[in-house]
Amino acid sequence: MSREDIYDIIVIGMGPASSIFLKELDGSKYKTICIDKKSLSGEGFIKPCGGLLAPDAQKKLAELNLSLPLNVLVDPQIFSVKARDMGMDIERFYQRFYMNMDRSQFDLWLMSKANPEIRQIEKAVVTNIDKIDDYYNVSYIIDNKEFNIKGKYLIGGDGSKSLVRKKFFKNVTIRQYVCIQEWYQSDKKSPSYMTIFDKDITDSYGWLNYKGVHEILGAAFPKTDSKVRFEKLKTKMIKDGHIFGELTDREVCQVSCPSSVKELCYGGNGIFLIGEAAGFVSPSSLEGLSYAMDSGHLLAKVFNNDNLSVKYYSKLLKPLRRKLFIKILKNKMLYTPIIRKWIMLSNISTIKIKK
Ligand SMILES: Cc1cc2nc3c(=O)[nH]c(=O)nc-3n(C[C@H](O)[C@H](O)[C@H](O)COP(=O)(O)OP(=O)(O)OC[C@H]3O[C@@H](n4cnc5c(N)ncnc54)[C@H](O)[C@@H]3O)c2cc1C
Repeated sequence: MSREDIYDIIVIGMGPASSIFLKELDGSKYKTICIDKKSLSGEGFIKPCGGLLAPDAQKKLAELNLSLPLNVLVDPQIFSVKARDMGMDIERFYQRFYMNMDRSQFDLWLMSKANPEIRQIEKAVVTNIDKIDDYYNVSYIIDNKEFNIKGKYLIGGDGSKSLVRKKFFKNVTIRQYVCIQEWYQSDKKSPSYMTIFDKDITDSYGWLNYKGVHEILGAAFPKTDSKVRFEKLKTKMIKDGHIFGELTDREVCQVSCPSSVKELCYGGNGIFLIGEAAGFVSPSSLEGLSYAMDSGHLLAKVFNNDNLSVKYYSKLLKPLRRKLFIKILKNKMLYTPIIRKWIMLSNISTIKIKK
């Protein structure tokens, strides 16, 4: 290995968490490299996602002095959510302030904000990481050819199936769900995003959303029988009178869904975890973009301030932890059918929609 292959920081994954980290990091201080399996041009890249930018994520972009380019947005923009409890046959509308986005375009745009001094390796799958003496040895594969590099610090920005977390922190387990989404051809333009609750299908939730010429049905399920549960959901929707167009795509992935803040993991021994790899996703809505960008920004402060301890990072993360704790409590309430029924029937914060 030549000196050229030795770095101060190796970042695994270039999702929103790493992009913000690499944007905010003082590039002149640290020799840094970032490796991602996707292409930097976006070719063939699909991240299964609802693609909704929540107010907290919008606030983060504002704090970072970033404005969203128009090509990231998709038709229709929505201002309400229709919450439907299928088991109890209750439906209520609530005002919401999401932005409807093309998730791939959003990621590409954020990646373009990374400090250009930082080397980015695309279409490279990280296959192994070992700690040897004071360095992390990272192996990655491009077109069946293996490469090796060394780094003093390792950043796990590699999402829900984080290799970094699995390899070095496997004792800090986190609850995970399987998400399935199907895309159908559609010319409907509903002004509402729909959230679907049904305790017989999942103890999380499902969603129906519109993007351009597509309608997307998705849901998060416990790991057992997820495919059967998805079919059950679809059948119930059809029985409910919903007509789906031609199926054009199907996506399956994992999502972290912490049931306690104890399931969060920030790193240790020169490793730092950000975004979903650390466990930062709201279990009530699966909103993760604000946490990803926030944690990436806070980790950049750790490096820029030369205080490279997980203790300091954990201190900076305190507001995020508090926010997640409240979401976990909300999740426990919202996903208890009797409490959800009471909330929906109380009509608190509901809006009336013209038929
Ligand atoms: C179905 C679904 C719907 C969602 N909807 C929303 C929503 O509407 N709004 C919202 O705010 N959040 C949503 N989320 C959550 C959100 O997508 C995540 O919280 C967010 O993407 C986390 O960002 P990240 O940067 O931590 O990780 P990721 O976005 O997952 O990025 C990880 C990166 O690491 C790369 N990578 C992983 N492993 C390797 C490897 N071994 N080698 C090389 N590269 C690797 C991947 O290619 C990827 O680019 C949703 C999640 C799911 C699953």
